[in-house]
Amino acid sequence: MIYNCNKKEATVSIYTPNQKSIAECIQPDSCMKDWKDWHWQLRRTIRDIRTFEAVLGISFTPEERKHLEMTAEKFPIAITPYYASLIDKENWRDDPVFRQAFPSVNELITETWEMSDPLSEDVDSPAECITHRYPDRVLFHVSNMCAMYCRHCTRKRKVGDKDFIPGRETLEKGLAYIRKTPEVRDVLISGGDPLMLTDSAIEWILDELSAIEHVEVIRIGTRIPVVLPYRVTDDLAKLLGSYPNLWLNTHFNHPREITDSSMAALKKLSSAGVPLGNQSVLLAGVNDCPYIMKKLVQKLVSNRVRPYYLYQCDLSEGLSHFRTPVGKGIEIIEALRGHTSGFAVPVYVIDAPGGGGKIPVSPNYVVSWSTNKVILRNYEGVICSYKEPDSYEPVFCDRKCDTCNLVLNVTGEENPSAIGIERLMADYDDQITLIPEDTERLRRRNDDG
Ligand SMILES: *Cc1c(COP(=O)(O)O)cnc(C)c1O
Ligand code: SF4
Repeated sequence: MIYNCNKKEATVSIYTPNQKSIAECIQPDSCMKDWKDWHWQLRRTIRDIRTFEAVLGISFTPEERKHLEMTAEKFPIAITPYYASLIDKENWRDDPVFRQAFPSVNELITETWEMSDPLSEDVDSPAECITHRYPDRVLFHVSNMCAMYCRHCTRKRKVGDKDFIPGRETLEKGLAYIRKTPEVRDVLISGGDPLMLTDSAIEWILDELSAIEHVEVIRIGTRIPVVLPYRVTDDLAKLLGSYPNLWLNTHFNHPREITDSSMAALKKLSSAGVPLGNQSVLLAGVNDCPYIMKKLVQKLVSNRVRPYYLYQCDLSEGLSHFRTPVGKGIEIIEALRGHTSGFAVPVYVIDAPGGGGKIPVSPNYVVSWSTNKVILRNYEGVICSYKEPDSYEPVFCDRKCDTCNLVLNVTGEENPSAIGIERLMADYDDQITLIPEDTERLRRRNDDG
């Protein structure tokens, strides 16, 4: 039976034609009354090619459909009706939302240098649900589910896999690790998407983390404001706002994703007092354009979201069609720095294959150096010299902070010695090189010894 709800709708015309036609197609009697109910959105999430064709009013050739179904078998599809409604039906093949959400047969191509776990997150996992890579912070994976499975997801191998939400016992193992590891002062709750959990599960995790004395900062990484903004209810915003050390990072990739609905979700969060950041992924055919990125970051800051990272696309399996040369990212930063508000410029990073963490890459602004001058160039190409101070007296640091005139007042354990490049720079340490282990050269040395 088809209900006709045009009359009712005419009075509240707050939905786009795309939203109406999708709702009509998915549930003819819904009359938009459920559109903003996130449970409805999740129940009606598009999970197969045929529904998607129906929703967009297109049809693939049998051959195309067969390949797409093979892709979807390897990496599952999920697209909320809301996110699907952002696709421009007139030009869907080139649409940035379509490309992020809809499988491409190119995903079945695995290049020899691609890996299922390029960031070695599984190797750096000392406990279930935990990736511990950096000295003072961990990733805490609390769900395998997402409202929308991004085709460019780094964790493709994991997300969507039986749509797994770990139970409390599993999460307890992660919490136990954090409790017994005092150096962890920052916990990133990640997934999948943490906001796919119920409010009470989120509250439980946040309460448990807040009760750990050494956890100073908690962050949530989520794509919910982009793909299912109605999940950000007043209750959820209030809950998140009640943790004084909580930050939230979201994942907008294209200005098209900033809609009335997503702006309303962001506003709820910022009004509740949650500081907001954004992490974008640089994607060929989606946002590999300085003007698109400039528009995106400007729209973000006008919604009180601080652009945090721009990621170079990882070497995960099946992502080659999304990858750009690193030069594209540098070109984008070049077009942002100086050209727009400084706090709208994200840090462009490459997450080191093999698990080295994020490495920032940027245009070069230091042109040359002498002993008393630095030669710099600005965004316009103006070259200037900066005169170094004549009278600077370097502080010889012996790491004995209690006798130093810079009043830091730290002692013993709080004051560990430096590692890595920082150690090469340190006055008090006589290490002069960092040498990769197990090179031919070192093996020769060992043989001699
Ligand atoms: C990105 C990431 C972090 C957090 O890095 P920040 O630079 O502090 O945002 C922590 N752990 C892992 C494994 C990460 O990938
Ligand atoms: S929301 Fe994040 S974890 Fe989920 S599919 Fe997208 S990129 Fe992957």
